[in-house]
Formats: sequence, C-alpha cells, structure tokens
Amino acid sequence: MIYLDNNSTTPCAPEAVAAMLPFLSRDFANPSSPHGMGRAAKAATEAAREHLAQLLGCTPRELLFTSGATESNNIALKGTIREQDRDQIVTSSVEHKSVLEPCACLSKRNVTVIHLPVDRQGLIPLEAAAKAITERTCLVSIQAANNETGTVQPIRELAEIAHQHGALFHCDATQMLSKLPISLAKAGIDLASFSGHKAYAPKGIGVLFVRAGLPKGRLMPLFAGGGQEQGVRPGTLNVPAIVGLGKAAELAASHLISDRKRLQRLHELFETTILASPLAATLNGNPHARLPGTISLTISGVPADMLIANMPEICISNGSACSAGTMSPSHVLLAMGLTRELAECTVRLSIGRYNTEAEILLAADELTRTALRLRTELG
Ligand code: PMP
Repeated sequence: MIYLDNNSTTPCAPEAVAAMLPFLSRDFANPSSPHGMGRAAKAATEAAREHLAQLLGCTPRELLFTSGATESNNIALKGTIREQDRDQIVTSSVEHKSVLEPCACLSKRNVTVIHLPVDRQGLIPLEAAAKAITERTCLVSIQAANNETGTVQPIRELAEIAHQHGALFHCDATQMLSKLPISLAKAGIDLASFSGHKAYAPKGIGVLFVRAGLPKGRLMPLFAGGGQEQGVRPGTLNVPAIVGLGKAAELAASHLISDRKRLQRLHELFETTILASPLAATLNGNPHARLPGTISLTISGVPADMLIANMPEICISNGSACSAGTMSPSHVLLAMGLTRELAECTVRLSIGRYNTEAEILLAADELTRTALRLRTELG
C-alpha cells in the first residue's frame, strides 16, 4: 500500500505513540484529581500545552483541548456571543463542512451568513472581503489552508479587515499544523482550530486557540460540566491523546523546515512526472500560496471514483474525505469554477512525512497507466 492521503489523516508518529503508552496503563489518573497520580497526569497535559504553545506562537493558557477541529470550529462559531447590532458572520465558500454546517445552523437562528467567493485558484479576493465585512459583522471565519487544493489564504490581511470593523477573526488552521509555520499572536487571529490527527498525533484530540485579550464571556461553552479547560470545554481530559499531541508538536517544531522542503520536493517530483505524461492532467489551487505536499489533479474523462477503485494499492482521495460518502462533487472545486464533470474527475494526493521518493514515482506511474487505460475503455 502507498498512502498518499495525509490531509485526511496522518499516521501517528512513533515517538508520539511511545509517549502515550504509559498514560494508557500505569499513569492513568484523572488530571483533575488532587492526589499525586492526578498531579502527575496534569503535569503531563501542561507540558504538552507548553510544546503546542511554542509551535503555535502563543501562550499555553490560550490553548484549550477539544476532541478535534470539528468541535473547535463549532465552539468558535456557535459559542461566540454576538453583540446586539452585529448579526452577520462572514465565511468563505471553500470552508470545511465543520465550518459551513454550523454556519447553516446559525442562519436558521437569525444570523446572516455571507460566503465570500474565491478565484479560479481558490484564493479569496481581499476586495470581496473588504466589501462584505461591515459594522454588522460579528465574526469572520476563514480557513488558513484548504484541505482539497492546499491553497493558503491571506490570513493576516483578512484578520486586519475584520478588526477594522470591530469583528472577531476565527481561523480553521487544521491543515497548517506541522506543514507551515504559524504565529497566532502575529497573525492577529482571535480564535483558531486544530486537529491532532492531521499532524502525526492521534485522532479525537484537537485544540481551540482563544486569544488572551478576548473579553471574558465572549465565548459560550457548548457543553456544561466540570469546568475543565477554563469552563469553555468541560469534560475529563483525554490525557494519552494530549500527551501524543504534545510530542507531535515537539517533533513538528524540530522537523518543520526539513519536512517542508521534503514535501515540496516530493510534490514537485510527482507533478513534473505527471505533467510530462500523455495524460494532459491539470493542477488545481494556487501554485504559490500553497501547502507543501497537497496535489489536486483533474484528469478529464476519468472519474475519480473509478480511478481510485482501479488502484487498490494507492490510497488517494476524491476531493474531501469528509464528504466522500455523499455523491455531490466537491463544493470547493465548484466554487473555484470547475464544471461538475471536471470536479468529478479530480483526485487529491497529500504527501506526508513518511512517504519516500520511490513511493511517489510508483504512484505517479500507476496513476498514469490506470488513467490512460480507463480513458480508453470509457471511450
Ligand atoms: N477543517 C479542515 C480544513 C479539515 O481538513 C478537517 C478534517 N478533514 C476538519 C476541519 C475537521 O477535523 P476533525 O475531523 O478532526 O474534527
């Protein structure tokens, strides 16, 4: 098997697994317990928070553990308390479903949701943002990087526009974690969401960043409970997963530059190999503002579902894995102006830390041969 679906989920780093193991057995205590074992578990969660804060350029107190980016996005969107005269949320048409769906819920509760358009390469035009964001805007929620195309948005500029109008800025930065440097303090972000399993940590653990200066009470918890995580996300902490995430963050900090260069080199190798083939495939996304390792490839005349089914040993995705169960083509590609037909003929490859050059060349060869065969068969 060649696994090229790292934007969907990454394997856990072996170092993260090793760090977690004691907390699944010997060191099992509840970190809220007052005794020695509880205090040791708490110390482990706080060390993890410290590593994450270093990676993300913020203070540990600004980070709250959640179950993943879906939960973090929901808290940010549904939990932000709107001032009376601010009844608008501005987001984009290429967000992940875990942003679009909470927005759809809010639009049934008298909130006006504006979806900013994107250009052919998936970038939000700043002029469109400047026009849409007004004194009526409560919250602007824009992703840092797209999970399907890898296009990276101008977050700093968008946050500035939001702040000029007194709105808060939330960023779904799930796909940036461990791929590109992030400095939450410098980017002017008020709220940000992350998921561990996109960055070599386990599934079911995530982070919500809440800027320290945010007025107290601006964020309503979605659950009521024991008061953990400053009351914003009550519930017993998932200690093993938090420790795994802390280790993954520590590794990401030391691997960031080398991983980035490697992913860039491997994706260039894949693209030049494919583009030199007779497939006449086209690439989607912005060629410059882009995540290293993410490749969105349209092969006209070859439906993505068929291509994937005919390459049992190559694990790639058709658009976003989260909407893979639904038959509708990717909303991201449609928003970028692709026709339905071309969107259905688009696959996503996402390269990760553990992929090798040999795997990339094998995958490119297998993909080219299979797509050419299917194209001939389908006439
Ligand atoms: N946002 C983005 C951009 C994502 O790629 C994903 C995962 N596909 C999520 C949010 C949701 O993450 P999780 O499923 O871990 O909650």
